[in-house]
Amino acid sequence: MRPETAAITSGRPLAQPGAPLNTAISLNSTFTAGGPIGYGRFGNETWSALEDAITSLEHGESTLAFSSGMAAITAVFSLLPHGAPIVASDQGYSGTMTLLKKYHEQGRLEVRFVDIANTKDVFAALIGAAFLWIESPTNPGLEVAEMALIIGEAKKRNMGVAVDNTFATPINQRPLELGADISMNSVTKYLAGHSDVILGSLTVKDPALHSRLLEARTLIGSIPGPFEAWLGLRGIRTFPLRFNAAQSNAKALIEKLKSHPSVERVRYPGFGAIISFEVKGDAALTDKVCEGSKLIANATSLGGVETTWERRRRWPSESATVPENLIRISVGCEHIEDIWADISHALSAIS
Ligand SMILES: *Cc1c(COP(=O)(O)O)cnc(C)c1O
Repeated sequence: MRPETAAITSGRPLAQPGAPLNTAISLNSTFTAGGPIGYGRFGNETWSALEDAITSLEHGESTLAFSSGMAAITAVFSLLPHGAPIVASDQGYSGTMTLLKKYHEQGRLEVRFVDIANTKDVFAALIGAAFLWIESPTNPGLEVAEMALIIGEAKKRNMGVAVDNTFATPINQRPLELGADISMNSVTKYLAGHSDVILGSLTVKDPALHSRLLEARTLIGSIPGPFEAWLGLRGIRTFPLRFNAAQSNAKALIEKLKSHPSVERVRYPGFGAIISFEVKGDAALTDKVCEGSKLIANATSLGGVETTWERRRRWPSESATVPENLIRISVGCEHIEDIWADISHALSAIS
C-alpha cells in the first residue's frame, strides 16, 4: 500500500454495520479477566490502532508505541548484553548521543562512534561488533549513510541493526526493506506532525524481537498515554499530505538560500524537509537572525506543520563539531513565498 493510502486506511475498527470509523480513546487501567489485555500497562486498544498505522507505513510486521522517541531508543539498547560492542554514528540526535556516551562511560556498552557517511570507516568498526545503530540523515549535519551497503555488511556479520528513521520518514526510507531489524521513529515529529504530543515507536518484522521489545516496554513502563496515542494516529492521517508539502517547500528554498549573500553554506541531503545552513557571522549574529523572524518560530524540535528554526549550538549538549553559525530549519506547510519573505527579512538584519 502506498503511504497516502496506508496513512488513511490503517488502524481503523473492522467495518461492520454501526461500527465507528475511528478507534476510541481507551481510558482503562484494568480489564475483566479472560480477555486479550489484562492490565493497562500490557496493552491498549488505542495504542494498537496507532501501531497498526505505523506498521503499514514502515512495511513491517508489527510496531510498539512508546511514551517518547527516547523511550523507544532506550528499549532497544536495554536488549543488549552488558558491555556489548556496538557501532553508532558520531553525529546524531543529542539525546541519543548523550545516552550512548553515558552507557560507554559506565561500561554498560562499548560504543564505537563512527562517521556514518564514511562507509570504509563503518565497515572497519563493524568487525567484532554486536549491534549497529544508524541515524541517517544525521541531526543536524544531515550526513547520509550508504544504508543498503552498511546494513548488508552488518547482516553478513550477524549483527542486529536499528535505524532512527525520524528525519527521512517512511516516505523516503524504509529500513526494514533494506534489511534492518528495527525502524525507530520519534512520532513526535512528522508522523504526529502538530507539535502537540511526544511519542515514539519501534517497527520490526521478527515476532521474537517484538516479544523482547514488548517485555522491555512492559517492565520499564515506558508506555504512551491513550490520548497521546490517539493524537498520534489522528496526525498520521495527514502525514503524507503534510510531509510532501513540507518537502517540496524545502526543495524550493535550497536555491534561494544558496544564492543569498548572507548565507555561507547550505546542507540538504536531497530529500526531506530539514535544511541546515550557516550564516555569514558569529553566534551572536546567528541568534539575531533566529530572533528576527515573524512567521517562523524560533524553537527547537521539527516535523510540525509550522516552520521552526534554531541555532543548534545554543544547546550546551550539542556536539562541538556543529558550527556556531548553523541554523537548522524544519520547513513546514505555510506558503513558500511567505516562508521565504520571513527568512530574507530575518537575514537582512545582519547584511
Ligand atoms: C526528536 C528526536 C528523537 C527523540 O524523540 P522524542 O520523541 O523527543 O523523545 C530521536 N531521534 C531524532 C532524530 C529526533 O529528531
